[in-house]
Amino acid sequence: MSERSEGPQTGKIVVVSGPSGSGKTTVCDRLRSDPHITLSISATTRNKRPGEQDGVQYHFVGRDEFLHRVRDGRFAEYAEYNGNLYGTPRQPLQKALEEGRTVLVEIDVQGAAQLRKLYPEGMFIFLDVPNRETAATRLERRNTEAPENRYRRLETAERERGTASTMHFDHQVINDDLDETVAKIRHLIAGGETAG
Ligand code: 5GP
Repeated sequence: MSERSEGPQTGKIVVVSGPSGSGKTTVCDRLRSDPHITLSISATTRNKRPGEQDGVQYHFVGRDEFLHRVRDGRFAEYAEYNGNLYGTPRQPLQKALEEGRTVLVEIDVQGAAQLRKLYPEGMFIFLDVPNRETAATRLERRNTEAPENRYRRLETAERERGTASTMHFDHQVINDDLDETVAKIRHLIAGGETAG
């Protein structure tokens, strides 16, 4: 993977990262309704959950196809998360930035660390939960994971906090109240600097 900065761009990359259960997806879903914001759609090898549509939440691809795209350099970053591969397609991201758009990228902490090298001037936001119990309750309510997978995600979340503390995020937002969190992030994107 290249570590140089990408070509000329006038847009802004906003990376929202954080542990499973922090509410990243819900927050980014709200933010994507803003016409000024383009949401980066990742590719993944994980199975589709009920209600998910190809090309909306993710581009769902097989492992061979994913690895082929890795070899072709088609991802700005990619990472393995709980046994599945996830990657940010490079071309649409670069195009949107060249068009001056604000691109929202929702990824795990390993991916955020990779993007930081490519886009050092980006805005990196770490979204966290008030406490471990909240993350567990959210994952349980969401009911998308088998119990052993939920446990694994919570363990991963602990590791992610460790990695996050060694990587420089520009802002940390504790997602206690969804409306407040969305408002805070909107404010940060608009150029306000009060949160975190
Ligand atoms: P989920 O399976 O719950 O949709 O996502 C699992 C984790 O993968 C989440 O932390 C999510 O933010 C992260 N993720 C989603 N897309 C990408 C991506 O393109 N790259 C990386 N590194 N992580 C991603």
